[in-house]
Amino acid sequence: MSLKKGRVFSGARPTGRQHLGNYLGAIKNYVALQDEYDCVYCIVDLHALTTLETTLDLRNNTYEMALDWLAAGIRPQESIMFVQSQVPQVTELHTYLSMVTPMGKLTDLPTFKEKVREQPQNVNYGLLGYPVLMAADITLYKSHLVPVGVDQAPHLEFTRETVRSFNYRYNTNVLIEPQMKVTEFPKIIGLDGQQKMSKSLNNHIELASTPEETTQRVMSMVTDPARIRRTDPGNPDVCNVYSMHKVFSSADEVNMVNVECRRAGIGCVDCKKMLARNMNASLAPFRERREEFARNPDGVWDVLHEGAGRARAIAAQTIAEVKAAIGLAE
Ligand code: ADP
Repeated sequence: MSLKKGRVFSGARPTGRQHLGNYLGAIKNYVALQDEYDCVYCIVDLHALTTLETTLDLRNNTYEMALDWLAAGIRPQESIMFVQSQVPQVTELHTYLSMVTPMGKLTDLPTFKEKVREQPQNVNYGLLGYPVLMAADITLYKSHLVPVGVDQAPHLEFTRETVRSFNYRYNTNVLIEPQMKVTEFPKIIGLDGQQKMSKSLNNHIELASTPEETTQRVMSMVTDPARIRRTDPGNPDVCNVYSMHKVFSSADEVNMVNVECRRAGIGCVDCKKMLARNMNASLAPFRERREEFARNPDGVWDVLHEGAGRARAIAAQTIAEVKAAIGLAE
């Protein structure tokens, strides 16, 4: 029996190569949690189907994301890393949970309303049921803790309410109410210095990009807009380059930038060069490991298949308990 504190579950849609926002906001936490919890990390390709216009890149994006997760330090011997659609029991639990879900609750969710605004031409049934599928993901593995961004808080609350409704309706305690764990870096700002770093906004830096690409992207970062000339004093508090220094540079360097920027002792170009150097140094071991994993694509798929096998074993057990609680025929 495991001596760990409980089970962690988290899922992310297969968006391909991951960026610094994904790493700092999610993956770093996934890696750290492995020391204390039994972790289940899922590439949620079924969730992706609710928004994708084409599925042509789905497999490759799944593979690229798995490579990033492995290179970042997810340990597949300990943790379960798998693809959602390879554990079909999640769709079965989704159906059971849908029976205790009032329609109004789904239509009221801010995330649903946002999607309706974003893709009015494709308001599909899956989109409405997204939180139910997410509740099924979490509860299928009897997860105690779910590390997510703050934007997911309404979905986590929905999951907790769904668990209570299910357990009450069927007079059982088979499903577990999960806790939310907010990450250390809930919102990494993109190269534009304004919006959340995101692939779709092309304001991102991929973990797997080359040192040259990384440097080029860092050099394009928007700094304090009020600092126009090299001789103008800057304000690090409103500069995303400074925020990134806090993540990638030493305490002495951060302090130096903080002091020198304010009295125009360091220019933005030198400040960015220093950041690019530190970022590349910090990402170098990740990139080496990624290249090693990429030499054996079958090995990456084996990890995912093996993870799905272990996930299916837990899922089958939960489904058996759920069916018994409902009173369905065995
Ligand atoms: P999903 O829709 O599955 O959340 P994303 O690619 O948007 O897919 O995000 C994957 C994970 O990375 C999520 O946990 C999300 O909170 C985190 N994330 C994405 N972008 C950022 C960002 N700019 N700052 C912090 N965390 C982020």
